[in-house]
Amino acid sequence: MSVIRVALPVPLRQSFDYRLPVGIEVQVGCRVLVPFGKRELVGIVWQLQPADAFAEDALKSIVAVLDDSPVLSGQLCRLLSFAADYYHHPLGEVLISAIPALLREGKPLPGYQSLHYQLTQAGQAVTETDLQRAPKQLALWQQLRQGGLAADSITSEQRPALRALLQKQLVAAIEVPFSPYPAVTSTQAGLKLTTDQALAVSAIVQAQGRFQPFLLEGITGSGKTEVYLQSIAPLLAEGKQVLVLVPEIGLTPQTLARFADRFQVPVLSWHSGLTDTERLACWQQAATGSAAIVIGTRSALFLRFASLGLIVIDEEHDASLKQQDGFRYHARDLAVKRAALEQCTVVLGSATPSLESLYNALHKRFQLLTLSSRASGQQLPTLELVNLQQQAVQFGLADSSIQQIKHTLQQGFQVMLFLNRRGFAPALSCDECGWVADCQRCDASMTWHKQDRQLNCHHCGSSRPVPRQCGHCGSTRLVPLGQGTEQLEAQLQPMFPEVPVVRLDRDSTRRKGSLVEALQHITAGGPQLIVGTQMLAKGHHFPKVTLVVIVDVDGALFSSDFRAPEQLAQLITQVAGRAGRAQHAGKVLLQSRYPDHGILQDIIHNGYDSFARLALKERQQTLLPPYQYLALFRAESHQDDVPRQWLQQLVELAQTEAPKVQLLGPIRAPLERKAGKYRWQLHCYSASRAGLHQLLNQLIAASQGWPLTRKLRWQLDVDPVDLS
Ligand code: ADP
Ligand code: ZN
Ligand code: ZN
Repeated sequence: MSVIRVALPVPLRQSFDYRLPVGIEVQVGCRVLVPFGKRELVGIVWQLQPADAFAEDALKSIVAVLDDSPVLSGQLCRLLSFAADYYHHPLGEVLISAIPALLREGKPLPGYQSLHYQLTQAGQAVTETDLQRAPKQLALWQQLRQGGLAADSITSEQRPALRALLQKQLVAAIEVPFSPYPAVTSTQAGLKLTTDQALAVSAIVQAQGRFQPFLLEGITGSGKTEVYLQSIAPLLAEGKQVLVLVPEIGLTPQTLARFADRFQVPVLSWHSGLTDTERLACWQQAATGSAAIVIGTRSALFLRFASLGLIVIDEEHDASLKQQDGFRYHARDLAVKRAALEQCTVVLGSATPSLESLYNALHKRFQLLTLSSRASGQQLPTLELVNLQQQAVQFGLADSSIQQIKHTLQQGFQVMLFLNRRGFAPALSCDECGWVADCQRCDASMTWHKQDRQLNCHHCGSSRPVPRQCGHCGSTRLVPLGQGTEQLEAQLQPMFPEVPVVRLDRDSTRRKGSLVEALQHITAGGPQLIVGTQMLAKGHHFPKVTLVVIVDVDGALFSSDFRAPEQLAQLITQVAGRAGRAQHAGKVLLQSRYPDHGILQDIIHNGYDSFARLALKERQQTLLPPYQYLALFRAESHQDDVPRQWLQQLVELAQTEAPKVQLLGPIRAPLERKAGKYRWQLHCYSASRAGLHQLLNQLIAASQGWPLTRKLRWQLDVDPVDLS
């Protein structure tokens, strides 16, 4: 008899021991079914314990072993256990989140990749006359005579005929097993590389087979994807697998097609839109090696691979690589860790690298590869500041901007207007007394969505009909305060009646497939105005856009978040990168009331590259990440004082345990109340990563016993990206 330690999907920071009945064997990484309270749970075997170390009789027995071989490989277990420690998240939840939902539910792994039907010898021997009394069977038999049929291509109408033929043993089912994809012997030749690209590809190819991170810093349009493709080619000849991580919004059919068109290998995508069955199929194809390339969003990082040769992280600066709730991991950082464990190369690509990655490159932890010109030889767009204080402004657009828009449209090109606020207006206000329609559950105004005839809170999701009267004085003169994309769209249309106005934001693209449709329209169409949010900044190509207007850059200039300047610089550069990608040079107008602001001047005159290096110096002087490590405690409760007191207790403990860790807090969160709860924060800074993590462990352990802990919800965010 022996004892196993099992990781269970429960939010408890402990592991659970069970008895393994005599004669039953199990390996670490296999799923088991165990009794837990009144329920039975699927867990993952985490450790095999020496039998005599425990009072075995006190332990419950497992109910069943669910796998013959581990679903989590040893390397994956090591990665996940590192992640659980590093992000201070319960191990059971971390392990379980790394397997597809159907496996979490205890479903068996399919033993074969697909099912085919084909004629048996008897089936080949029959003649048409034998089957002429059963026309449906005859039709199916005729089809099968041409070759095998995949199970999922059989229609429901064909099923009865199939059943009959199976019964007569004229047809047999053949299980096609999972098997590694056949190594590629010849690939379609790639583009002729520029010198920069060639240097990058050769550095990456030479490093293959060992752990080596690269930062590929290439301006938009410099051909980073071509570098990925040509670095991948030699791996496919060896039968190795490649994981490509992309931002949530970057996983477009175009991205997939660029990989699938180049190589004749199975290219799979992994994203939140897959069904549970599709996820399991993708997971298993990666695990068995039958998928060659997987392109996916952040959680693809936890896929099991039979033979991983390279990880690519495209747009490595993108915030969507960080999980913002529950298990708050950063896929970029864990990808580098995974590459170290698997001894493979990892390429982080971006036109606007995060300051963290740049820091790593400057300190030689990453090898820096630079693509400094556009692959087509085409010029980068010019950036121009528009002073909103010195000229007439109509609908948020300066006169000179309107003139340039007109001019661009007249020349037959398209104009993109970027405004990062969806809805009609960020607030609805009373013209007589100044009352603003606030969310009742948050410290924020509600956004007016005119088309939906609703006020929506963008923080907690609550909504209500647009009021007819002021909630304070009863006046009916309610007016929009500020401008959102919906309003800008409505204002532009009468100004430019002869051209279409398209809006791209989360509201206009809610329907499945509508984004792809809109993008096709834009690519195929003539002069038009494209209004949109953040969505416009990522990955898409708009060959006919030659003018981009960033309607309001000022919001980010005075933010309390130390990352705001970095994010603004990335946004401006990324949006600019959408302009003039085809044969025509582009121009970007930055509308601001503070055109002399240092950040804007720096981006305009020296570009992101120089901005980022200066910003790093500033972080060094102010001892902010990446020069110190940051962990953020968040606590929230319906009672205002509870989270503050709880964080204060952490502060007192931290001051005695680790006086070198600098604390900021308890402070109120930028959004003080959300969904009815008061929110407080504690920021912990330290130059020593080990010292910080030791303190975090102590704080978490101690707080488990405090009565206050039960009165609130708390989270710990290690290396937070978003400080709200
Ligand atoms: P990035 O991802 O760096 O923004 P892309 O990989 O999308 O850039 O490349 C931009 C454009 O340049 C694409 O149309 C691509 O086909 C083209 N391109 C890339 N490399 C080359 C090359 N070596 N020669 C000619 N065109 C290239
Ligand atoms: Zn709200
Ligand atoms: Zn009023």
